[in-house]
Amino acid sequence: VSSASPFARRIARARAAMAEKQLPALLLTNIPNIQWISGFTGSSAFVVITPTDAILATDSRYNEQAAAQCPDYRVELLPTSAPDEVVKVLAAVAPPKLSFEAGHMTVELFGKYREKLDRGIELVPTASLVETLRLIKDPEEIEKIQAACILADRAFEHIVPFLKPGAVERDVMLELEWFMRKQGADVAFDTIVASGWRSALPHGRASAKAMERGDFVTLDFGARLDGYCSDITRTVVLGEPSDEQRMVYGVVLETLHGSIEGITAGRKGVEIDAQAREIIGAAGYGERFGHGLGHSLGLQVHDGPGFSKRSEITLEAGMVMTVEPGIYIPGWGGVRIEHDVVVTDGPARVLTHSSTDLLVL
Ligand code: ZN
Ligand code: ZN
Repeated sequence: VSSASPFARRIARARAAMAEKQLPALLLTNIPNIQWISGFTGSSAFVVITPTDAILATDSRYNEQAAAQCPDYRVELLPTSAPDEVVKVLAAVAPPKLSFEAGHMTVELFGKYREKLDRGIELVPTASLVETLRLIKDPEEIEKIQAACILADRAFEHIVPFLKPGAVERDVMLELEWFMRKQGADVAFDTIVASGWRSALPHGRASAKAMERGDFVTLDFGARLDGYCSDITRTVVLGEPSDEQRMVYGVVLETLHGSIEGITAGRKGVEIDAQAREIIGAAGYGERFGHGLGHSLGLQVHDGPGFSKRSEITLEAGMVMTVEPGIYIPGWGGVRIEHDVVVTDGPARVLTHSSTDLLVL
């Protein structure tokens, strides 16, 4: 098995999950799921997996790309991706039951498939079948996430000299994004640059505000490199910090370290989140940490569930998670520090290496 391509191994994992649920055929319409299972990076395609077949169907725009990227698939070229054409491919497979991704199919499209498919084919909704498989990364994926993390670390190093009183948040955002794109990456999500009172906004996208002496500046950004995302947050302070700034930073940093120490295969996502809340709560800032502690990271920046009050996951080796505690005090400012980690049977392996010491600029 180890000599097979990562995509052949992922097809095998999907078939095992299908067999367990007694699903003879699976139609995939969600593009990140299709990319994960086939390697196809175009924006229009669908995949059909059966116990003996793996089909990727796309249109003529992607002719050469699909053949080159998906050697483990029978590639079918369709004149269009209209439901009529999709149904022809499905009819040729003729499964007794066809499962589809309920979270990624509109009611309108479902109606069209139901109308055009043979009445004898039962349509069975599935929920997060491939998303669940995607939670556990294979070595090829971890290597790509690591490369995206290294680029984010380099981008942080690049941006530090630009952080000073008078610098405009949007200019800093552009400089950061320019650096990552210049290295061949895309940005994984809208870059957050939030200074002073705006650092109390957990999702403070870069604005026209100029940075001032005494500001906390929170940068939260990521690179998407070869399809895979990194996601890192650092908070720096411009000029000597006040006692309260030092204290708040210290609590967030202690929570980050304490949380990472607790991460190992077998523990529950909800426990790791609760432990972080205990540390922040004991310091008196329990009400100031509203969001979940972290999320799964991969092809998408929010690649699945992670650490939150409602998390239902149990950690398994190969999961890649963010750990991002924060304290936000309206009108005053906030601190968030974020690492990306791989879950193992032992201690978590940290993929982001930028220093987490309070940087005084
Ligand atoms: Zn982030
Ligand atoms: Zn994050």
